Amino acid sequence: MQEKTEILVVGAGPGGLACATHLARHGAKVVLAERRTTVGDKVCAGGITWGGLIRLVPPDLIERAFPEQHIFTRRQHVTLVEKNPIVATVNRKRLGQWMADEARSMGVTLLTGARVHSLSDGKALIETGPGRQIAVHFEHLVGADGSNSLVRRFAGLQSTAMGIGLNCMLPHRAERMEWHLRTDRFRYGYGWIFPHAETISIGAYIGGPVLPAPVLKQRLLAWSADQGFELDTGAIRAGRVNFDYQGVRFGRIWLVGDAAGLASAVTGEGIYPALVSGKAVANMILDSNNAVAEMAGILKKHRRHQQLLHMAGRDPRLCAVLMDIMVLLFRWKLLDFRVLEMAE
Ligand SMILES: Cc1cc2nc3c(=O)[nH]c(=O)nc-3n(C[C@H](O)[C@H](O)[C@H](O)COP(=O)(O)OP(=O)(O)OC[C@H]3O[C@@H](n4cnc5c(N)ncnc54)[C@H](O)[C@@H]3O)c2cc1C
Repeated sequence: MQEKTEILVVGAGPGGLACATHLARHGAKVVLAERRTTVGDKVCAGGITWGGLIRLVPPDLIERAFPEQHIFTRRQHVTLVEKNPIVATVNRKRLGQWMADEARSMGVTLLTGARVHSLSDGKALIETGPGRQIAVHFEHLVGADGSNSLVRRFAGLQSTAMGIGLNCMLPHRAERMEWHLRTDRFRYGYGWIFPHAETISIGAYIGGPVLPAPVLKQRLLAWSADQGFELDTGAIRAGRVNFDYQGVRFGRIWLVGDAAGLASAVTGEGIYPALVSGKAVANMILDSNNAVAEMAGILKKHRRHQQLLHMAGRDPRLCAVLMDIMVLLFRWKLLDFRVLEMAE
């Protein structure tokens, strides 16, 4: 089978869905190919921020919202309190399905169970089932295919700045959202406890190769046991987080979200940068002037987070001191929690 489209978007995560929907809303012909049979499943803690997404998604998609954040180091426990929720949680499957419905209603041709397996100039071969394949001819190609992006490799880019995250969903209810900056366990990364409606996300992230996945997993198991949670090792899922940003445009190939390396080096936050870059790239393809301003805020934060990671990664003792100073500044309200967020 052959198909012709103006724009082929690869990957129906938040970046690809935002991009495809915005393009279709402005009259472009868009095919969006997703290798999974359902949209939305992703290894993720589902944390979104007030400055980022909380106000942009329908309230019924929010599982829990927390105006209070509990931050721990080895020496301190600080509770930050604000009027509005600082961080909330969403279920990625529900977020994905809501965005997929929006995309379809704007006229996007959304193919699920459709894995792009090879690319050449202006043409993609997409597997749609055993022995079934379609060729899609395109004018523009958008890579929204996550941290291990095929489109990024096709554009000739490597990814050397990668984080690793581990997540486990537990069938419990918890009341506090917690961040554990435990340098003895996670070096310059952190462990989290993010309550959802009827489950809890417990996990750990580090923005570099200093703790390989099996070591990080052992540390996560030991730390979560200290917190009173016995994790089933088989239920821990791992994911990479690409923060090696090198641009969004490479001729008629475009990159958004994790494929572009736009996640935060420090926290691994990537849903908001995926949505912002998805819409900005759509505007660039449509030749709109809004795109530059939309990307500027994200790029500024992205650079700052890389600098912060670089500083914290230099020396473990310096890192522990820096984390304690940062948390003290939070406590004294001399520093805003938003330094850790990707939204301005
Ligand atoms: C453990 C962990 C916890 C995290 N927690 C948070 C959090 O709390 N908050 C937050 O903001 N971010 C978090 N992130 C990061 C966040 O999940 C990502 O940054 C975000 O999903 C990026 O969106 P995206 O659209 O760029 O890519 P993705 O969401 O990865 O979507 C890419 C899509 O492309 C599809 N795809 C890939 N290859 C192909 C192909 N060849 N053909 C067709 N389809 C393809 C995939 O199936 C997938 O659906 C976390 C990450 C990890 C690993």
